[in-house]
Amino acid sequence: DLSVVWFRRDLRVHDLPTLTAAGESDAAVAVFVLDERVARPGPRTDFFLGCLSALDETLGGRLLVVRGDPVDQVPRIVTELGASSVHVSADFTPYGARRDGEVENALGDTPLVRTGSPYAVAPGRIRKADGTPYRVFGPFRRSWNDHGWRPPAQTDETTVDWIDPSGFDGRTVVDADSNGGERAALTRWRSFVDDRLDTYDADRDRPDLDATSRMSAYLKTGCLHPRTLLHELGTRNDSGASKFRSELCWREFYADVLHHRPDTAYVEYDEKFRRLPHDTGAAAQSAFRAWCDGRTGYPIVDAGMRQLNAEGWMHNRVRMIVASFLTKDLHLPWQWGARHFMDRLIDGDLASNQHGWQWVAGCGTDAAPYFRVFNPTTQGEKFDPDGDYVRRWVPELRGVPGTLVHRLGVNRPADYPEPIVDHAAERLDALDRYASIRRVI
Ligand code: FAD
Repeated sequence: DLSVVWFRRDLRVHDLPTLTAAGESDAAVAVFVLDERVARPGPRTDFFLGCLSALDETLGGRLLVVRGDPVDQVPRIVTELGASSVHVSADFTPYGARRDGEVENALGDTPLVRTGSPYAVAPGRIRKADGTPYRVFGPFRRSWNDHGWRPPAQTDETTVDWIDPSGFDGRTVVDADSNGGERAALTRWRSFVDDRLDTYDADRDRPDLDATSRMSAYLKTGCLHPRTLLHELGTRNDSGASKFRSELCWREFYADVLHHRPDTAYVEYDEKFRRLPHDTGAAAQSAFRAWCDGRTGYPIVDAGMRQLNAEGWMHNRVRMIVASFLTKDLHLPWQWGARHFMDRLIDGDLASNQHGWQWVAGCGTDAAPYFRVFNPTTQGEKFDPDGDYVRRWVPELRGVPGTLVHRLGVNRPADYPEPIVDHAAERLDALDRYASIRRVI
């Protein structure tokens, strides 16, 4: 019998339980459905297509890529090839879960077999003793650690006997290049473990250093499974390994939160913040544009936004700084910033992004207290102590030496914008807005 392995966000062959399940069939066809409504043009899609090309190469050119809506395409492939089952790794995003339900219906008697998920522990598994989901990260992490995860699945491209789909009607050939793909992911992971893990805990907040793993986009596309990484860390309990494990757990926590509360992709997790007054008029729109373009006149904010525009990635500390600036200095809805991030980030992930934003905005799970407003100048001085990160991304400031780039004063070059707002005044405004919703609680 023949099965279909439908790849989505699991673009790899190692540690892929779906392949173990499909390997029980005599042969299988590897399928990817390119849905243009989801894969909109942009850096994330470019990166994704590079990952897809790399997967096709690993499979010896036997990946069947078709364009269209999976609800039509997957049943069509099953019928035309006479397949008896479709294997996937479970998708927990609100969109993915709904789409899979629709595909399952359209398949009729042919089973859609879900094996594994993009997480070490599938969303919904970890619950409090009373059966309800966790709302706070610390206790979730302890339960997650106690629960543990399976060892990696022993799979590779030979686990399944792939059929050659070259003659299939409507086949699209994807020939894209990015630094995506499983091999590139493993190479970066190796260099992180060998050269950076020991200093990860100490240096992970420094955007001027290449001190973090850069695994996020690979995890998003499933070029690597988090279990592979956790297995490699094994029982290492030094500060680097412990911190890294904990960061991976944030990804799992936010996926769990979004699974239980899909509405929080768009509205505040903490309901009282839905009444927080925001600015949305013409002045707000123009401030938003300055923020998007990296022209706020605050060097660390502008460096971050320009890194995002150039690389499709931004350092975590700087994500927090620019998000704080958008919500608390510009008083814009966090959703504006979150949408821009989703458009631009190659690791853009609905759960981590929307909840990362809400954490900063103060309206999410275990939110940083709303009244803690990041000061972009002191944050820059603390985390980019020599100013190298700012000079790398803001060419106008390349002539300003050392840490002076964060506090420009008379050194502000003529071609670099004046601050679009006064941080001290906007901080007080933010606190007033906060007080206005506190009073009605
Ligand atoms: P490392 O420090 O090496 O961390 C290892 C892995 O742990 C990451 O790859 C990621 O999978 C996970 N991780 C680390 N921090 C977090 C976190 N705070 N929340 C969830 N997972 C985490 N991460 C995304 O993957 N996609 C997003 O769309 C995203 N949007 C964000 C938006 C905001 C406003 C903020 C503050 C954070 C966001 N993050 C997002 C989390 C974090 O910034 C990135 O995961 C991290 O910068 C990726 O770089 P890295 O792989 O080198 O991280």
